[in-house]
Amino acid sequence: AEAAATSVFRRDSAIDVDAMERRIVLMGELDQAIECGQIEVHYQPKLSIAEDRISSVEALVRWRHPTRGMIRPDIFIPLAEQADRISALTCFVIDRTMRDLARWQLEGFDLTAAINISATLVAEPSFVEAVDALLGRQLVPPESLTFEVTESATLAEPERAATILRGYRDRGIGVSMDDYGTGQSSLSYLRQLPLTELKIDRSFVQHAHLNRPDELMVQSTIALAHDLGLKVVAEGVEDEGCLAFLRSAGCDMAQGYLVSRPVPALVISELLGQREVA
Ligand code: C2E
Ligand code: CA
Ligand code: CA
Ligand code: CA
Repeated sequence: AEAAATSVFRRDSAIDVDAMERRIVLMGELDQAIECGQIEVHYQPKLSIAEDRISSVEALVRWRHPTRGMIRPDIFIPLAEQADRISALTCFVIDRTMRDLARWQLEGFDLTAAINISATLVAEPSFVEAVDALLGRQLVPPESLTFEVTESATLAEPERAATILRGYRDRGIGVSMDDYGTGQSSLSYLRQLPLTELKIDRSFVQHAHLNRPDELMVQSTIALAHDLGLKVVAEGVEDEGCLAFLRSAGCDMAQGYLVSRPVPALVISELLGQREVA
């Protein structure tokens, strides 16, 4: 069903009237989707390489549509942005994540969580107020949350983005640069942003142990990020060879199918429990 949904909404079918209609229908359905409990939050572990333990999770949203099956975030996040529902959707994800994280912390697991923040929200001052309201309930300390943002979000209005991100940092929330390497920005530009973490895009990570240019890219990024005081996460780690390379390169965290695919909250509890006794 996921594959079917994808093909229907292919970008190159923009002039396809049927596809446009379906897109508009989905946009309208998004509101009820949140209310009717069709939106689910899955989590993908981040492995702390030196400690060999799961120290964090990334929240990844899914839409379990009653007739179309599981719809991928690549499809409906852009719709939510266009329909002005991205703030509501992101608040839902943060709320869900805080509740799940509070439970894991109560169970005794030393865990943090990351949430993806759309480009359109990064420069949005009113979203700061929404985040404050969520923090005010004190389910988890703000220090156990990280916001993942992309270069595109910060490049549009760099100073505005830096100011707003600084506000999140002042509240104790970490800020991670997502998909690093796919955009235009340099590390010298990134230095002007109040970041705590850098995530190297999976297109560089996946073959870093197999091809020299990717290996150099990953190695130099890790070195420069560490110079800037940032933690480095490699995404898209799919095999042991890649993880061994990252360990030797001094990468802090690994995320990818090798550790686990994104899974429901209950499965995270099981994974954490298993690793603890192992
Ligand atoms: P992302 O932030 O880059 O998230 C990583 C994506 O890579 C996820 O896809 C994940 O399932 C996938 N992935 C993880 N490990 C591997 C691996 O080893 N190999 C491969 N081939 N893929 C891997 P997903 O869950 O479909 O999410 C797609 C994108 O949707 C995310 O990319 C993120 O940009 C966006 N997204 C997801 N949840 C949210 C959300 O709550 N808010 C916003 N604004 N965006 C979201
Ligand atoms: Ca992300
Ligand atoms: Ca990413
Ligand atoms: Ca990516």
